[in-house]
Amino acid sequence: MSNTDVKEVPLPAKASWLEINPNALKANIQSFRNLLPPTTRLGVVLKGNAYGHGLNEVLPIIQPWVDCLYVITAAEAFQIRALEKKQGLSERQVLVLGALSLEEVIACARQSIEVVIGDNHWKDFLLRIKAAQVKLKAHLHLDTGLGREGFAWDEVEKELSFLKGSEATIQIQGCMSHFANTEDATEHGYARLQMNHFRQGTDRAKAFLGIHHPIEEHFAASAASLVLSDSRMSIIRLGISLFGFWPSLETEITARAMLDQAPELIPALTWKCVSQLVKPVKKGSYIGYGCTYRCEQDSWIAVFPVGYYDGYPRLMTGKCHVLIQGKRCPVIGRIMMNHIIVDVTSVITALYPQSNPPEPFDLQAILMGSDGKQQIPAEMLADWAQTIHYEVTTHLGAHLNRKVV
Ligand SMILES: *Cc1c(COP(=O)(O)O)cnc(C)c1O
Repeated sequence: MSNTDVKEVPLPAKASWLEINPNALKANIQSFRNLLPPTTRLGVVLKGNAYGHGLNEVLPIIQPWVDCLYVITAAEAFQIRALEKKQGLSERQVLVLGALSLEEVIACARQSIEVVIGDNHWKDFLLRIKAAQVKLKAHLHLDTGLGREGFAWDEVEKELSFLKGSEATIQIQGCMSHFANTEDATEHGYARLQMNHFRQGTDRAKAFLGIHHPIEEHFAASAASLVLSDSRMSIIRLGISLFGFWPSLETEITARAMLDQAPELIPALTWKCVSQLVKPVKKGSYIGYGCTYRCEQDSWIAVFPVGYYDGYPRLMTGKCHVLIQGKRCPVIGRIMMNHIIVDVTSVITALYPQSNPPEPFDLQAILMGSDGKQQIPAEMLADWAQTIHYEVTTHLGAHLNRKVV
């Protein structure tokens, strides 16, 4: 780092923080182990900064208990290798699912990181990978009906012709695909069609490339792992449910109806914040930008140093609440970049006699998660923000402090 670089700005001491419960993560892994046949391995997807939970925090907790780590970017894979080294953990299978530059591919090969080949721009990489004298372990991605990455399952011979005869450079370790709507439906006709395409595509790819060694076949993310037992194949790619969330309500309903014992998924994350200011305001006062909220009575408000910059969606304005001392307190006025304002009248009236008014930092709010008895699930924030919990958790600011508790 040159001395002209600006030093990283430290987090304000009062910023909100995330608490990660390691036992929840381990219990969720165990629940899936119980669900899987012994021949199916358990891989976890740690993309999106481990679904917002923090790759650095989550990895050391779960690394010893899983069989493979899937990420989207090369940077995440390198971060895993660096952390394994630093913590003296034995190397796990790591597979990058996302798009890579040639330089990243070669760096991956040098660190035994596996990659996914899913389109024929790889043709241009082939000679240069050979020239770099590395051996690359790769998985083929077949598009069986999602319309995203992958070779067309019914044209594998044409699509894979550029790979023929390159086994000295590229070792095919596996074949994968991804479901389009296992989360959205309680009926899985389309998923079964995709599996059928996968079976045919994989067999044809193996025959065409002359692959006789056993390869991994993987298809199922959280939802399919739960509700489509024959999608589990060699290994599952468990994402959202590792963190204790059902992929969707549809999946939860289907799983509870289908499975003798549906797993109890335990959310691993709680988002907390301490007030920076607590004060009384008079009846008729306006609160926040745009004067969109007016107090109907004399009230107590608390200002919390958290806002949409930290991942608290502005779209939740007018709908959301936080938990303070077991009470649900509404967020009033617009959600701001670095602040929210909460009506804490009920808390103050219950807990503070008039002779003993609250101090600025007295109130701790739970923005997401549970306080033991009450909960604000990520799904609730997602409803308020008109999105899905995947987006809410992955938008939790990377700058926030994450504490393993
Ligand atoms: C994100 C992702 C997963 C995990 O999905 P969840 O629904 O979070 O379990 C699995 N496979 C691929 C290819 C993905 O992109």
